[in-house]
Amino acid sequence: MSRIIHRSLRSTPPVAASAEGIYITDQSGKRYLDACGGAAVSCLGHRHPDVIAAMHAQIDRLAYTHTSFFTSEVSEELADHLVAHAPAGLDQVYFVSGGSEAVEAALKLARQYFVEIGQPQRTRFVARRQSYHGNTLGALAVGGNEWRRQQFAPLLMDVGRVSPVYEYRDRREGESQDGYTARLIAELEAEFQRLGPQNVIAFVAETVVGATAGAVPPTPGYFRGVRELCDRHGILLIADEVMSGMGRTGTLHAVEQEGVVPDLMTIAKGLGGGYQPIGAVLASGRIVEAIRQGSGLFQHGHTYIGHPTAAAAALAVQKVIQRDGLLAQVRTRGEQLRGALLRRLGEHPCVGDIRGRGLFMGVELVKDRDSKAPFDAADKVNQKIKQQAMANGLLVYPMGGTIDGRRGDHVLLAPPFIVSEADIEDIADRLGSAI
Ligand code: PMP
Repeated sequence: MSRIIHRSLRSTPPVAASAEGIYITDQSGKRYLDACGGAAVSCLGHRHPDVIAAMHAQIDRLAYTHTSFFTSEVSEELADHLVAHAPAGLDQVYFVSGGSEAVEAALKLARQYFVEIGQPQRTRFVARRQSYHGNTLGALAVGGNEWRRQQFAPLLMDVGRVSPVYEYRDRREGESQDGYTARLIAELEAEFQRLGPQNVIAFVAETVVGATAGAVPPTPGYFRGVRELCDRHGILLIADEVMSGMGRTGTLHAVEQEGVVPDLMTIAKGLGGGYQPIGAVLASGRIVEAIRQGSGLFQHGHTYIGHPTAAAAALAVQKVIQRDGLLAQVRTRGEQLRGALLRRLGEHPCVGDIRGRGLFMGVELVKDRDSKAPFDAADKVNQKIKQQAMANGLLVYPMGGTIDGRRGDHVLLAPPFIVSEADIEDIADRLGSAI
């Protein structure tokens, strides 16, 4: 038995031995096509020579330094690169080691901002059901997946809660898409009013919902409505793009497609492409300036923030994406993936919905296509499909869980941006036969 505390304490996963491009090989020599990039992480696939070279060069010069003593050329360069490509106004960067840390830092930046500007009564966050923001206790408190939260209640914060965008199940018969969107915005306003809008720090939402629901995009105008409402009440908007960001949906940031700029945005996963653990918060200069003018000290920090080797990996990943025009490739391959999934699974009696953006696609599994009846939890359908896909040499990310008392089973596809058209047909085929 392994000495590592694995997620499942009753089984040990196969041992990964090596990887190349979009394939991972285990110790027995079996090869897996990685159609989910781990968890939407490996955007360039494995062993990319430019990233390896950049990391080698950085380790050779300076692997690590603590930010209480020094900044580093490479982390400054990465921050400049990120700001140059961020939506206007997001011009400050806080580096962390991953997604949960990014969410924690964003929550604390938002809270400290209001303390510094003399609104300390703002102590409440509002977030959505069916969302995932990380597993640390603050991130878990804003997350909306009851299944992950229930054992740890009471959580650190009591968070206001509203419905997610989940058109497939929640748009009523005869209701227009705009009407549905307006209903969601009205629900958010009602929640702000219940808490007292003057008490609310921020609304937190994934731009495209990832792990809990399998790549559910917002309806047109949803985020514009959210932005207007937040502005009316002086409430901040925090976009969590840990999974949906960094090119995954075909633009560098998914919010670009929504025509809004959040006040804080979390990124991780694809930022370092899996070569190093790294995440960041992109922050509005206004927030940081208020703290600078106030106490002058952001009350936060971790040992590995601004890690030079992680910054070198991330900078190299981002430069390759830009140089090789990979965002355009994500858009093209994304439409090919949607087409391949629709051809292979569109009529399948147990496939309810195929959705997503770019190379970020979800397949919703249902017991009955017409009634949309979900599978029972005991069926563990998503896990069975993951296992069968692995047997077929394919990695897909399974997600299920009880959301508002409803079971949802999904598999998430998020292949590296370098997949070929032939790889995409292969993914659809192997997933099709697994299902
Ligand atoms: N936010 C979102 C939207 C995520 O998808 C995740 C990870 N799945 C996290 C936060 C947490 O990131 P990490 O696992 O790197 O802590």
